[in-house]
Amino acid sequence: MSKHETVVGLEVHMQINTKSKVFCECSTEFGEAPNSHTCVVCTSQPGAIPILNKKAVESIVKTGLALDFTINKQCTFARKQYFYPDVPKNYQITQSEPPLCSKGKLVINVAGKEKVVNLTRIHLEEDAGKLVHEIGSRKLDYSLLDLNRASVGLMELVTEPELSSPQEALEFLMELKNIVEYLGTSECNMEEGKMRCDVNISIRPAGQKELGTRIEIKNMNSISGVRDAITYEVERQIEVLDSGGKLVQETRLWDAREGITKSMRTKESALDYRYFPEPDLVPFDLPDSFVETLKKELPELPKARRVRFIKDYGLSKYDANYLTSSKIIADYYEEALNILQDKKVAAKLVANWISTELNARLNSSKIDILESPVSSKNLAKLVSLILSGTISGKIAKTVFEEMYEKSSDPEIIVKEKGLIQISDESAIIKMCEEAISESPKAVAEFKAGKERAIGAIVGLVMKKSKGQANPQLVNKILLEKLKA
Ligand code: ADP
Ligand code: ZN
Ligand code: MG
Repeated sequence: MSKHETVVGLEVHMQINTKSKVFCECSTEFGEAPNSHTCVVCTSQPGAIPILNKKAVESIVKTGLALDFTINKQCTFARKQYFYPDVPKNYQITQSEPPLCSKGKLVINVAGKEKVVNLTRIHLEEDAGKLVHEIGSRKLDYSLLDLNRASVGLMELVTEPELSSPQEALEFLMELKNIVEYLGTSECNMEEGKMRCDVNISIRPAGQKELGTRIEIKNMNSISGVRDAITYEVERQIEVLDSGGKLVQETRLWDAREGITKSMRTKESALDYRYFPEPDLVPFDLPDSFVETLKKELPELPKARRVRFIKDYGLSKYDANYLTSSKIIADYYEEALNILQDKKVAAKLVANWISTELNARLNSSKIDILESPVSSKNLAKLVSLILSGTISGKIAKTVFEEMYEKSSDPEIIVKEKGLIQISDESAIIKMCEEAISESPKAVAEFKAGKERAIGAIVGLVMKKSKGQANPQLVNKILLEKLKA
């Protein structure tokens, strides 16, 4: 086995979350009738003039600020020439030098350790249209063109070649998606193509500084796909080198069904694109106040929220990481917590319910917490019933099942089913006495010094009360009686 190091750099395209496209007023709505959102600009009619969408620039600058980028105030655009079957004008408006943002960083967590990944740039560009090769399940022997996506604004984020495993690439994309979702600058919905990724992969002998020959896999549309493609490609490259072959710089495609990459074309260089300044968009400088205002408007980001959860709610690092791993989970958590009286006492319990019970149920029914049948308000009510001693933790699980199945209110379930915890001493004393007289063996063991034997008697009382006796009270009474 040869010792090789994996080197990965990513180019991530994220659709900017604006109502209209980046150079015209057409809507960016996804899934509409083909070519229904088009105009002279985005269908590339000769002489049509692009007009820059200010919100798109704001979104990129915001994203740049959140990722520690330097914002370049000069705003310039360039034409990138290519034969684009899905862009009739045969060039794409993009940014060459300078991009809006240069030199940023993103911190990822890999196996409990922090790693800083340096980011090269973020620039603004327009998306292409889409070629359609099938209608429903009918394969066409010609191609149709849908220009709804043409000229939709994209931000392209490029990383330095610093990721060194499939897992790091996965963590990177999850954290990036999380931050961008917090910012709201892109929906990053990979199923709708709102986040796509080109993955550059090379290997080199361990310890060597110089980079190896890179292979680029274009247009990946799932994070787990990126991980699997890197795993496959690294093995393939090692095999080629070990068998005396040579790698050539090329573009490959990931075939998710077969789980392999296939050669597509050898790589074109920047020269082939003949970038030149876009004559229809005059260069301009962003005013200082533009950047300053956006800086002030930045929302709380995942890292800051994590730290706050630990500090204010006394959560463990693990819980805080889990809850802030997605904005919607963190929002759900805080919505529930804000309803409860004593936040510090409730914090850990609410966190537990979300990360275990709720998470497991949502996973098995494959739904997002946004569509959770248990609302944050109802989860808060459930926790409040436990904290007040109205129901036991055990009963709470039964109540939770029903809440999940029927989206119902726990207070109503508890009332209707008579599940209120029995804290009435005289009723519990009676059940304890019965249980003691029915368990001579356990009683004898307990009296002989085997304290654990009490468990069987507690169990019997709980059974008699259908799980409704207050367990602390049961324990206390049994101990008093057995020691008397
Ligand atoms: P292009 O547009 O030609 O693909 P870019 O410079 O925009 O070139 O992107 C290059 C990407 O490839 C960056 O993410 C960079 O980190 C990565 N990269 C460059 N060289 C290597 C290499 N030898 N191995 C892995 N990744 C690389
Ligand atoms: Zn248009
Ligand atoms: Mg590339």
